[in-house]
Amino acid sequence: MKTNTKENKIGKIAKFVCSGGEGGNGHPKIYLTIGENELTINCPYCGKLFKKPS
Ligand SMILES: [Zn+2]
Repeated sequence: MKTNTKENKIGKIAKFVCSGGEGGNGHPKIYLTIGENELTINCPYCGKLFKKPS
């Protein structure tokens, strides 16, 4: 018996770490969290886009 739910795409949060690029234009390491109702987040330092894994 399967126990799948319909909440496996949205409803979980995703966490990322960003420290900028490796070419000398990095920034202090920060932690980014995509909330339950969002799918992407931009790093406020370097603007890198992170997507919630699906
Ligand atoms: Zn960044």
